[in-house]
Amino acid sequence: MNLLITNIKELLQVREPNILKVSGSEMKELPTIKNAWLLIEDNKIADYGSMENIPEIVADETIDATGKIVLPTWCDSHTHIVYAGNRELEFADRINGLSYEEIANRGGGILNSAKTLQDTPEDEVYDQSAKRLEEVMKLGTGAIEIKSGYGLTDEAELKMLRVIRKLRENYDLPVKSTFLGAHAIPKNYKNDPDAYMDLVINEILPEVAKEDLAQYIDIFCEKGYFSLDDTHRLLSAAKEYGLKPKIHVNQFNAIGGVKAGVEHDALSVEHLEVMNDEDIEVLKGSQTMPVALPSCSLFLSIPYTPARRILDAGLPLALATDFNPGSTPSGNMNLVVSLACIKMKMTPEEAINAATINGAYAMELSETHGSITKGKFANFIITKEIPSYTFLPYAFGTNSIESVYINGKIV
Ligand SMILES: [Zn+2]
Repeated sequence: MNLLITNIKELLQVREPNILKVSGSEMKELPTIKNAWLLIEDNKIADYGSMENIPEIVADETIDATGKIVLPTWCDSHTHIVYAGNRELEFADRINGLSYEEIANRGGGILNSAKTLQDTPEDEVYDQSAKRLEEVMKLGTGAIEIKSGYGLTDEAELKMLRVIRKLRENYDLPVKSTFLGAHAIPKNYKNDPDAYMDLVINEILPEVAKEDLAQYIDIFCEKGYFSLDDTHRLLSAAKEYGLKPKIHVNQFNAIGGVKAGVEHDALSVEHLEVMNDEDIEVLKGSQTMPVALPSCSLFLSIPYTPARRILDAGLPLALATDFNPGSTPSGNMNLVVSLACIKMKMTPEEAINAATINGAYAMELSETHGSITKGKFANFIITKEIPSYTFLPYAFGTNSIESVYINGKIV
């Protein structure tokens, strides 16, 4: 089965296979072919080029993309889309003036989601989560990471991770799984948080590893949640099981989480709304990808990750949604790309690089996803007729996507 797309107004993010991420000033460049064709064979990108010298191709199906742009699907490297129920009532509480901390102290926040998750049968959690996954695929997401962390008991964490595994089995896009048992301290461990860390490290983690339920380890390294000591302890233990860190750091306070991540060869450090000079310094020369989550900043009215400081220091940056019921009930990567431009002063080229190739890197997928490259999986977006790719972030709130393909098949 082959699919030929002709007369593409502009084919974006055309890369050689050796480019696995882009950093600093490289992010200003978005390689494209104007007036292009793209050939898909089975589930892979077979070839592409300019319409001026298109070879003779016999295709099973041909799409005329006149006036339309084709780009790789978004790579969303930080989500919590497996959850049960929603928290729109807390949303109203927040509007009425309660802070994130006050809501958490009232038994809301993450603990509220954990209670609902614990009480919801696995099949129902799966059905709710699959619906969200299908929604974001239609919005152009073609690779995704999903974290546990709303279970907070042995049983419920494993339930979440099994739901993630089932999503991976039932959908064509790559789904990476991260164990986030250390997301919040459950109420019954409030007076003995060390005992909860013991449970996570000595009981749950070995089971997660035994059932091969996660590729990555995560912890919410933050004042009032988990300390630097907890972080070192957990990441060291997870290393024994081959789980690389992808960690929540610097959301509200800079307490050294970035450095801890780099010391443990983290694949990524995520959130980064509050960054001091030392955090930026320590990332230089590392292989760790910084990940920004601007729709979380929008929803909570907290600072945005200082993208300019990060990029001007020569570092890479990836963008992700943080889709979760509490702080970001949205998995729309198009909005994330717009917010990166509007609020973080990233150029459209930088934002698209951050949401595709660098997002793929933050899930160890950039050899197979994240760009238009011969041999990569045929995960791509065809836009509606739009004047230029800058229109994508500019027209925020407009759905400019006409169709999404995963492994060469329309979603
Ligand atoms: Zn998160």
